[in-house]
Amino acid sequence: MTNECEKELMERYDRQLRIAGWNQAKLMEATVMVAGVGAIGCEVAKNLALMGVGKLILVDNDVVELSNLSRQMLFTDEDLGKSKAVVAAEKLRKMNPCIKVDAYFEDVRRLDQSIFQETRVIVSCLDNWPVRRWLNSLAIELNKVLVDSSMDGFYANLQVVIPKETPCLECHGDDLIPKEIQIAECTLRKKTPKDLIEELKGYGIEIGLKTAEKLFMLNIKTAYDIKYAQASLLEKLDGKVRKEVQELQEKLKPRMPALQCVAALISGIASTEVIKILHEGTLGEIIKDLLVYDGLSNSFTFVHLERRGDCFVCGDAVREEAVPFPLRLSETILELKKRIAEKFSIPDPELLYKRWRLSDEQKLADLSPQAGDVIYVDTSRRFMPLPLRIEIMEE
Ligand SMILES: [Zn+2]
Repeated sequence: MTNECEKELMERYDRQLRIAGWNQAKLMEATVMVAGVGAIGCEVAKNLALMGVGKLILVDNDVVELSNLSRQMLFTDEDLGKSKAVVAAEKLRKMNPCIKVDAYFEDVRRLDQSIFQETRVIVSCLDNWPVRRWLNSLAIELNKVLVDSSMDGFYANLQVVIPKETPCLECHGDDLIPKEIQIAECTLRKKTPKDLIEELKGYGIEIGLKTAEKLFMLNIKTAYDIKYAQASLLEKLDGKVRKEVQELQEKLKPRMPALQCVAALISGIASTEVIKILHEGTLGEIIKDLLVYDGLSNSFTFVHLERRGDCFVCGDAVREEAVPFPLRLSETILELKKRIAEKFSIPDPELLYKRWRLSDEQKLADLSPQAGDVIYVDTSRRFMPLPLRIEIMEE
């Protein structure tokens, strides 16, 4: 911080310093990540920058489009085609030159772990469940507070996840995450490239068999896989097919109804929670229930959720000694994967046992597993693989 900044700080923050219990130093020392710089992310980042959070990390792998300009308030017509994270960072540095802003034009799942480690709070402002769930599992593993906010038209949600204290997004995922998303994602139901071609027809998209076959070789088997395929995976495709997949991603991009006024409202609440979290209990109570706002009926509903001890992401038992899971020795790996997919809503389970990646046609009996052994389930849904403790079922 320069001397000039130091001098002006007292005046810059004068009105908020007048709030009883306010501690500007706690904000200035903090690093907060904003994942997703869309309508909510722009507002949250702007709020935290103006209030003087010392360092912001902005992450978004999208560029500014015309349809963003009705609500993503850090962007203007001149920014079309530019990285959202980079443009937002430039604007925020102008709004408050006394803070540091880092920008990553990247899929949040590709960031180095050290970037998350330096973060005190992660604010998830993402528009899709797969990456929200991944970020939720990362927050639990790295013991970071997650403020998750989302919206759909006049509705908006907010949930603060404090590891080991409040429920995570998966504790009640079966009830709260839309079923069609859980089912549509499942790769195990798609056995051949023709299944992928058929699924895409449902979206009004045609692709050739050769392209579908190339995608299958990379384990990209569903529209969901295409939508959320990481750039590093696509780099393995030849230029022409890669371009075709990028166009498909564009067509498949989620396009939720969205309103600036609702984004401003829920991001205002999310930012307030971040400030309270940074004050560590000295400035009001953190919202520990799921908040649901309905702008049409003018209601704020607080849904009390209990943390689940058997939650497969944040449950204590899972973290300490793996989830007990029964195996039938007569079943194949594919059959086992299907049961795991259904039980945990994991769309793309890959099984690891004693450092082997198991293939679908293998029979469990051939592996001679022992009760108490651990099989790891690798999935794009989680930051770390899910450990399952084997129980052998009588047949
Ligand atoms: Zn949980």
